[in-house]
Amino acid sequence: MDAVVVGAGPNGLAAAVTLARAGLEVVVLEAQDTVGGGTRTLDLGLAPGVAHDICSAVHPMAWASPFFRSLRLHERLDLLTPAASFAQPLDGGRAAIAYRDLDRTADGLGADGAAWRDTFGPLAERWQDVVALALGDHRSVPAGATPRSAVTAARFALAVLRNGQSVVPSALRTEEGAALLTGVAGHAITPLPSLAAAGTAVLLTTLAHVEHGWPVVRGGSQAIADALLADLVRLGGRVVTGRPVARRADLPPARAYLFDTGPRLVAQVFGDAMPPHLVRAYAGFRYGNAAAKVDLVVDGPIPWAHPDVHRAGTVHLGGTRDQVVAAERAVGRGRHAEQPLTLLSDPASLDHGRVSGGLRPVWAYAHVPAGSDVDPTETVIRQVERFAPGFRDTVVASHGIPAARLAEHDANLVGGDISGGAISLVGMFTRPTPRLDPFATGAPGVYLCSASAPPGPGVHGLSGWYAARRALRQVFGRADPAA
Ligand SMILES: Cc1cc2nc3c(=O)[nH]c(=O)nc-3n(C[C@H](O)[C@H](O)[C@H](O)COP(=O)(O)OP(=O)(O)OC[C@H]3O[C@@H](n4cnc5c(N)ncnc54)[C@H](O)[C@@H]3O)c2cc1C
Repeated sequence: MDAVVVGAGPNGLAAAVTLARAGLEVVVLEAQDTVGGGTRTLDLGLAPGVAHDICSAVHPMAWASPFFRSLRLHERLDLLTPAASFAQPLDGGRAAIAYRDLDRTADGLGADGAAWRDTFGPLAERWQDVVALALGDHRSVPAGATPRSAVTAARFALAVLRNGQSVVPSALRTEEGAALLTGVAGHAITPLPSLAAAGTAVLLTTLAHVEHGWPVVRGGSQAIADALLADLVRLGGRVVTGRPVARRADLPPARAYLFDTGPRLVAQVFGDAMPPHLVRAYAGFRYGNAAAKVDLVVDGPIPWAHPDVHRAGTVHLGGTRDQVVAAERAVGRGRHAEQPLTLLSDPASLDHGRVSGGLRPVWAYAHVPAGSDVDPTETVIRQVERFAPGFRDTVVASHGIPAARLAEHDANLVGGDISGGAISLVGMFTRPTPRLDPFATGAPGVYLCSASAPPGPGVHGLSGWYAARRALRQVFGRADPAA
């Protein structure tokens, strides 16, 4: 065996495909019974024929990922693009909406329209530069960077600075504009304002306004894992499911090991081969705040009070900027917010094949403190009802998972942290530890290839790609033929 990958999430599969297309013999060991990690779509037994995305549902990063593009996944997957990438309903039947069309968005934002257009227009035009910067390995200058890339980088940094701190006011002054961007910043699950959350917001909002916006994949996120698995098998690789790795004896002999897991497992398995300071750093790796997941089955479209919210593939339920900031602050202090920021998607509004017998899945999660053992179902239904009166009556079945239990179906989700580690500006540039090579673990031939390594969370496969390219070069003296 040339290489073993532990974990068949998008990054593990990406690493395995990268190694296999360089001609290596690769096996992936996956703890769960099905392949895909954060890209699994499962029948939870809530309603016949209704399947749920148990982790990720919406895929701007998958569409933009340079690795997935090297496999032409952006063309092979059936991506369904909503007219609006995301929406932020406000009390009283109002809403702010980020349409895929930048001008329409700006027109809807009134006094903030010009600021939104000025910020995101130039970034959307140069989205590849934005992706190279934000989804790079956070250590090196992006390959192919030009002087124009430097201008884009400066624009990106300025947008992050203007929206990620409270000293200089944001250019967005209306309640709608401020709330719209704050809802996206909330994806970082970290107290706001913060530069790391603003970086997340600027990247995701840029992608909201390019070709595919924030798409869902026909049939659910599993299609991404299935496409990666098909490539791996075609290249001679394989995945063994139901094979948790906890110690060295669980691993077959190989020249390289790549871990699509948290750093703590690497320290547990290969600690004796790692320098002591790295063992300490890996064992003490810091996780962040959490999400509690709710999968619902409803018997019709969501009755949003604002008529255009249903056009959005993703809805951020949190209200105004101040309300979202207060909710995220509560979570940051270890308390449950009464009205937590809740993310919701109704994929069947685009993908009619997800409706079965008149019933459809609704995907949602609420931000909660790390390790929360509270069932989020009632809080989430209340938060949707706030902006869609009558929603409660459409719910025919539900399945809530407290943050503390998310790791039962994916051990990487420690305490319900869905980001592979706490998000902070420094953390994004130093995860998993402040070293020049963030993928090398210090144990010869052993690499970290999960979202706990750069560029961090999201379905993009890039941590796997970057780690596998290093393994190819350092262990096998080969190059990735597609790089
Ligand atoms: C509720 C939720 C919603 C999300 N929504 C989105 C979204 O809409 N869009 C988006 O882009 N991202 C989203 N994400 C984040 C995204 O899913 C992750 O960032 C991404 O899946 C990380 O990929 P990964 O391969 O690093 O890890 P994972 O996808 O977590 O895969 C890790 C794999 O390793 C396996 N594993 C772990 N430990 C072991 C072990 N000891 N032995 C063997 N196997 C092991 C796990 O079972 C799993 O299959 C969401 C995540 C969650 C949880």
